[in-house]
Amino acid sequence: MVLTILHMFQDYTLHTHSIGFDGRDSVQAMINRAREMGFRTIGISNHFIVNPIIKDSKMYSYAVQGGYSNIYSASFNEVMSRFVPHYVEIEKLREQNPDMKILRGMEVDFFGNNKWRDGFEKAIQILKPDYTIGSAHFVEYGGTLLNTHDWKSADQQDQNEILKFYWENVANAALSGLFTWLAHLDLPKKAGLGIGDEWEEFEEIAVQSAAHTNTAIEINTSFYRKYLYEPYPSNRVLKMMAKNNVPTLLSDDAHNVENIGRHFDEAAQLIRQFGLKKFQR
Ligand SMILES: [Zn+2]
Ligand SMILES: [Zn+2]
Repeated sequence: MVLTILHMFQDYTLHTHSIGFDGRDSVQAMINRAREMGFRTIGISNHFIVNPIIKDSKMYSYAVQGGYSNIYSASFNEVMSRFVPHYVEIEKLREQNPDMKILRGMEVDFFGNNKWRDGFEKAIQILKPDYTIGSAHFVEYGGTLLNTHDWKSADQQDQNEILKFYWENVANAALSGLFTWLAHLDLPKKAGLGIGDEWEEFEEIAVQSAAHTNTAIEINTSFYRKYLYEPYPSNRVLKMMAKNNVPTLLSDDAHNVENIGRHFDEAAQLIRQFGLKKFQR
């Protein structure tokens, strides 16, 4: 199966997850599928999530039950014990798949404190990823880490506070200059939050922060729900990105082979419609 229309627009897919983390399929299976679909480059970007209290979070216990707790590390030593062999495996697959360009990425949860930043900078000096995706699946609130899934059950006042912390964290991730691009910018809509116009000013600060450091913002095609048929981010944010000249790329956030290239044709239309600047490396 070759989808020619989509490849006129983008012949790579860089936001993907594999087995051993929270993906379902092996790296080799992901490469095979990407090749089959006509992509020339694939990047593997498993979760790099390090926080000393992550294992106290509600999300961690769900992950243990679901068999994907490997994506959560309480220390940089722990995350390195997973990424070092993972990158060695990708290195080997490069040799075995010379027709494809295979990149080593990571989807990093940004935590704004100096200790985290110090540990992260040391880790990437050793791992030397080809690119880093900045994300914020958690907000530090009331002494705990709340995942997007937990925000929905908070009361209204807490929800607003959590969302403000979320946007502050995203803006700081953009300003840090640590990331090649930012993932699913308006993630709170996954929990049905942050959709009203009152959040526009917060989105604007995040987009301007990305513009300031020339950090790209992906169009993540994993959302597209029945009740809100759109990717991350919304048209409201896409307009801001065009106005601020922020580069973009298409991400499928594939957690299995079937997800590769999903909705890319539709999302490419949005890039044209809003006159967005294409991502260049
Ligand atoms: Zn993510
Ligand atoms: Zn992802």
